[in-house]
Amino acid sequence: MEDPRRLIPRTDALLADPRFAVARERLGHDRVKAVVTAAQRRARAGEIAPQEVAQTALAALPRGTTGLRPVLNATGVILHTNLGRAPLSAAAREALQLAAGATDVELDLATGARGRRGRLALAALAGAVPVAESVHVVNNNAAALVLAATALAAGREIVISRGELIEIGDGFRLPELLVSTGARLREVGTTNRTTPDDYRRVIGPETGFVLKVHPSNYRIEGFTSGASVAALAALCMERKVPLVGDIGSGLLRPEPMLPDEPDAASWLGLGADLVTASGDKLLGGPQCGLLLGRADLVERLRRHPLARALRVDKLTMAALEATLNDTDTPVSRALGVGAAQLRQRAEHIAGRLREAGVGAGVVTSEAVVGGGGAPEVTLPSVAVALEAGLSVALRHGTPPVLGRVTDGRCLLDLRTLPAEDDETLIDAVRGAAACG
Ligand SMILES: *Cc1c(COP(=O)(O)O)cnc(C)c1O
Repeated sequence: MEDPRRLIPRTDALLADPRFAVARERLGHDRVKAVVTAAQRRARAGEIAPQEVAQTALAALPRGTTGLRPVLNATGVILHTNLGRAPLSAAAREALQLAAGATDVELDLATGARGRRGRLALAALAGAVPVAESVHVVNNNAAALVLAATALAAGREIVISRGELIEIGDGFRLPELLVSTGARLREVGTTNRTTPDDYRRVIGPETGFVLKVHPSNYRIEGFTSGASVAALAALCMERKVPLVGDIGSGLLRPEPMLPDEPDAASWLGLGADLVTASGDKLLGGPQCGLLLGRADLVERLRRHPLARALRVDKLTMAALEATLNDTDTPVSRALGVGAAQLRQRAEHIAGRLREAGVGAGVVTSEAVVGGGGAPEVTLPSVAVALEAGLSVALRHGTPPVLGRVTDGRCLLDLRTLPAEDDETLIDAVRGAAACG
């Protein structure tokens, strides 16, 4: 019989594993190597199985100074709120690393004079949406709305349809947020139907602006009607009041996979004066709030004292700039990957797991955008199906794997998992099955 010790993975192979490579960056080569050789020693002594060497070493690595743990998102929810919404691209992570040190964030190196903070990110955003005269970035979309409400409507009215008085999530309600600024809401229409005439009747000297909100996390069907952006823009132009549009998702341009999702360029093109959006939803960037539109309005917002309190960090600006300059993000990949490719990956993963004695099948699945976006859209997907009982061990594993339990099975949806994590997933599932 073959000596099981021959199955112990080699040191160089283990150190080349991406999980150990990441740890080496954090802890240094020598410390990681010492942990790996200790685990190999235990396998040679028969204390653990050769297949458990990687898991054992990973578990024994000293924790970093953050208690946060990277997890594998196999939930099928692309923008998972509890997992931090959009995972950042490699380019954005690199930019974060760079911005963490001393940089020329507010210095013009050519002249030695003070430069405008975030100018590169702002230029990239303006370049991505040429129809916007000017742009500004704040802490998140809620902050963008607060800034707009404070600067343009405090003590006056924001006209909004009753069908657009939404709760964002975690108990935060848009109407309450707007009212907290000292603006009053002038509600028009009904939950299911609002017409341009409803707006026309109430716009007057007290109007700060008209707000059109994309109800991104729910959908009303049946006997419905709303006032289009174009119709509202015509009305607002006639009455000389600004039209502010909250698109939510942060798409800058139309996304073919999500035909019903609004985007900044289109709403501005239809005549919105100002558009607000999140940076960490479909744009796939860091948490921030984007403001795009008329130069005079953006300038008023930027100059308002509150703007300073809503200012974003240099790290955010760097990650946003990188996301805008290299749009190949985990979110864009998750949206764009084809079902055939997902099936191929699933077959491979399930095959490898069965070879290792873990019961695994392949099933069709449905992924969603999540993060309060595109509630009506499901994206065809493919999942590796495991025994439901494994889900807890997977969540407790290294790295933790999050799937979803449906019909008595634990499904690992591959649309939300980057292909480069497939090997890590296989190891994690094997580890969880060995514990389970
Ligand atoms: C998500 C969302 C918000 C809140 O955005 P944050 O960036 O989380 O503050 C506001 N409005 C709409 C329509 C949204 O979808």
